[in-house]
Amino acid sequence: MRILVAEDSKVYRHLITKCLKEWDFDYVVAEDGLAASDLLQSAWDPTVAILDWVLPGISGLELCQRIRARGQSEQYVYTIVLTAKNQRHDLLAAMEAGADDYLPKPFDPLELKARLLAGRRIILLQRELIAARESLRFAATHDSLTGLLSRGEIISVLRCEIARGRREARPVGIVLADLDHFKRINDTFGHSAGDTVLQEATRRFRAGLREYDGVGRYGGEEFLFILPGCSLETATRRADAIRHLIEKDAVVIPQDTLTATVSMGVTAADFKEDASVEALLERADRALYRAKKNGRNRVECCETSEPAECPC
Ligand code: GH3
Ligand code: MG
Ligand code: MG
Ligand code: MG
Repeated sequence: MRILVAEDSKVYRHLITKCLKEWDFDYVVAEDGLAASDLLQSAWDPTVAILDWVLPGISGLELCQRIRARGQSEQYVYTIVLTAKNQRHDLLAAMEAGADDYLPKPFDPLELKARLLAGRRIILLQRELIAARESLRFAATHDSLTGLLSRGEIISVLRCEIARGRREARPVGIVLADLDHFKRINDTFGHSAGDTVLQEATRRFRAGLREYDGVGRYGGEEFLFILPGCSLETATRRADAIRHLIEKDAVVIPQDTLTATVSMGVTAADFKEDASVEALLERADRALYRAKKNGRNRVECCETSEPAECPC
């Protein structure tokens, strides 16, 4: 718990910090509202703010309002207004400004400690809630076996990249990859060995992709890569390099080693054409079908101009 103390009275500064020191809390002190505002936005990132109401520069209530106006992605700051104003309507005004608690001066040190402990509980609870929300969000958007984006998410990424490509007049390479004879791997070595192969293939895909490329699990043993800025030619070359990463080294499974291979279908979204996401995926799928038909462990591409009914 990191505590910001905003207090312009020297006497109260001394009283408060003496207590915080004794209770072994981490704190920083601001003597006016502007300094407090700077500290709230600093890397020190306070989790609790003890704010005097009347402060030079920015009042404690305005600081409360500013804290509450911050985005949800920012750390929650538990605010305690500590003030000589002690009327009921003052208490209400402080709470309306976003304060979590209110303590009239002169204050009883034990009462301040009790309030800080309550604040710590709220901060911890809030952290747990954020962590739970993030893990739910991750589970909803990622595949649990490989950690890759799920089908829905990778298609959303494709939609965004196509829109960006059109705006920036750049192509987007699209690759559908399907592990070859994967059913045979499951049948021979067991489903768990199949899972290991999927995880190892994912690791190699990632090794061959750039940080800003997209990759997701499109289906059981099918994956979708999105290569922003790559023409059909470049995307095909890069897909082939990734294909090679899969076949190059044997995959180690608990009882044996095995060689996996992958077939890929490539297409590119040309910024001048108006093809839908569905049409582009259908094109990549046709190229993949052709790679399978022509012997597997290979990359085939589907030209932008290739008619939909082409005998792929
Ligand atoms: P092809 O070369 O034509 O793609 O043949 P294939 O055997 O790879 O294709 P098929 O569609 O016949 O079989 C895919 C298999 O992938 C069937 C399914 O049980 C398996 N599979 C799908 N998801 C998983 C998974 O998460 N783990 C494991 N171990 N197997 C999976
Ligand atoms: Mg004051
Ligand atoms: Mg398949
Ligand atoms: Mg397959």
